Amino acid sequence: MIAAYSGRYGERMKALVQVGPDGDVRYTTVETPKLKEGEALVKVMAAGICGSDPPRNMRKYPGIPGHELSGIIVELDAPSCGFEVGSRVAVAPLVPCMTCDMCAEGRYSNCRGYDFVGSRRWGAFAQYVAVPATNLLNVADNVSFEEAALVEPASVALHATRYAGVDVGSSVAIVGAGSIGLLVGLWARAMGASLVSIADVNPTRLQVAASLGFDDVFDSRKGDYVAHINSLTNGRGADIAVESAGSHITQRQVIEVLKPRGKAVLLGISHRDVTLPEVVGESILRKEITIQGSWAAYGMPFPGPDWTDTLEYMSSGRLDVKPLIDWTGPLSQGPEIYEGLKTRKIQCTKAVFLPNNE
Ligand SMILES: [Zn+2]
Ligand SMILES: [Zn+2]
Repeated sequence: MIAAYSGRYGERMKALVQVGPDGDVRYTTVETPKLKEGEALVKVMAAGICGSDPPRNMRKYPGIPGHELSGIIVELDAPSCGFEVGSRVAVAPLVPCMTCDMCAEGRYSNCRGYDFVGSRRWGAFAQYVAVPATNLLNVADNVSFEEAALVEPASVALHATRYAGVDVGSSVAIVGAGSIGLLVGLWARAMGASLVSIADVNPTRLQVAASLGFDDVFDSRKGDYVAHINSLTNGRGADIAVESAGSHITQRQVIEVLKPRGKAVLLGISHRDVTLPEVVGESILRKEITIQGSWAAYGMPFPGPDWTDTLEYMSSGRLDVKPLIDWTGPLSQGPEIYEGLKTRKIQCTKAVFLPNNE
């Protein structure tokens, strides 16, 4: 049953289409997706560019990237899903198989046969996207579409912060002040951490971190972060360290800044071998360090509490992601901004497309 067929199928829509590996994208028009049973067609109002998008290699080409999105439902083929045509929604991009052992346990992030909006299936860098109604999330009226588009990275950061065990009084060292690292910092502060320290080497990122008012913002070009954390914690070391840069230097630092029995959470995607000096390897044993990987943010009931909590924190004002959004623009600027992000000529914390403001 199609609740309100808008007749968009067969029409063309504007989209940023990836035609080859390494983020080779073109601004063009494609056919508006046709709804399958159980799906909603969402008019994309805001879609964030993830750090993983410009270097992304798709399974098949052409494809449409974009997995951080919010919008308005314009068609719905999912009776009694709790949403209506006209609802303001955000979308969780993972489409788990719901049949494997991991899905049976509610560990959807570890699903063995998933689909994904914005890589394996068409994503949000388009005027419309078709998604399963089970992936929809309600967005309160006082949360803007731009903010709601950040529910995915903010949920990923919340999952990592919870998984790390951040609690009232925790000392937390974050290495890498990109959008995910900054969001981990915001969550750690919201959870009552007594020290939230964030380090980077990039002046733009350091400036954004400083504007967010964290307890400590450290420029790693100017000194030794490990010694710095030691002095801030009276020689104890941090309880928790979060790696959100994916470089071999920061992978080493998150182990070195920890107190004995501390926990390192790895969040940054590494594009080469992860290697550690012998002395650091030994310190993992001697200090009895826990190293924890963190991936996505899914749980029961799907898509999980990290998502609904994030949207609720946004609505109540306890999580303010607006300072992270430093570029908004039309899809037509997509090829340019992709190139700028790849070559690092454009520095932004979070760039957000407004696909229906072309
Ligand atoms: Zn993302
Ligand atoms: Zn599965």
